[in-house]
Amino acid sequence: MKKKSKRQLIKKLDILFSKIVREGKGCLRCGKKTNLHCAHIFSRRYMTTRWNLDNAIPLCYACHIFWCHRNPIEFTIFVTKILGEEKLEELRKLSLEKSAYTVQDLEQLLRVLEAHKPEPLCL
Ligand SMILES: [Zn+2]
Repeated sequence: MKKKSKRQLIKKLDILFSKIVREGKGCLRCGKKTNLHCAHIFSRRYMTTRWNLDNAIPLCYACHIFWCHRNPIEFTIFVTKILGEEKLEELRKLSLEKSAYTVQDLEQLLRVLEAHKPEPLCL
């Protein structure tokens, strides 16, 4: 029972997080506004940075799958320009930390994301 509810919370967090990352934005690489993906900088498998808003950028399908995933070095240079080396290193360290989220932790994360106000559109 507990496990199921954790899984559900993770799913809910993933959906909401992805929406926040993509909503009202364009692909950071090519500017396209359709078929946007929520591209993680440090993989989603690292739970401690999975819902960190610094750790994901909006990319269109093509840039995500055919550029980012196939050119990891170019992608690293790209995100270093966006975040700066310091922030990237901070995220890297955070991503390597062990996570042991309880149901309560996940619920708290969800509340934080739900309260997130979308950034104003900038051109
Ligand atoms: Zn693109």
